[in-house]
Amino acid sequence: MYMSEDTELRIAGIEEESFVDGPGIRFAVFTQGCSHHCPECHNPETHAFGKGRVETAESLLKMIDSNPLLTGVTLSGGDPMEQAVQLLPFAHGVKMRGLNLIIYTGYCYEMLVSKFAHPAMKELLCYADILVDGPYMKDLRDLSLTFRGSSNQRIIDVQKSLVEGKVVLHKMQVEEMKLKMGDLGGSDG
Ligand code: SF4
Repeated sequence: MYMSEDTELRIAGIEEESFVDGPGIRFAVFTQGCSHHCPECHNPETHAFGKGRVETAESLLKMIDSNPLLTGVTLSGGDPMEQAVQLLPFAHGVKMRGLNLIIYTGYCYEMLVSKFAHPAMKELLCYADILVDGPYMKDLRDLSLTFRGSSNQRIIDVQKSLVEGKVVLHKMQVEEMKLKMGDLGGSDG
């Protein structure tokens, strides 16, 4: 596990109105730095630590406050979990505004809740509504998947998972699985 020792929040970029990084209209922050180095990653420019530009929670929240149309915020990368310490004030601000928070990470949920995870990673996870977890695996690439690149990656309902003590897939992935199996009935909404 790598955790950035940089005390500044480094980001590779921002999409102020994204329609592809989760449901609704989202403010997407792409963090700088990733230690996973997944083969054929689509964002290799985000891997290096110490690059990108510096932002603060306040500056990002100010941008969010200027757009009343936003329905959520997505943290992607890079890997946001590598800067969990720096992201905590931002995640707190996002939830204080009643916005839905999605986090993409190359780590698996099980690692993030284990004793091997940095405490800040667990804390950041607790702010999330949805976690899209696991590394991108080029051999499992699937363009038909909802909001993720390879079939090993899961869309996890974080709050239900924390309560139940095990991974609970988000209804978006459950619906996708039903559709793939040709079972169009029995939706849980
Ligand atoms: S975790 Fe994401 S950003 Fe990092 S190497 Fe894998 S696909 Fe690229």
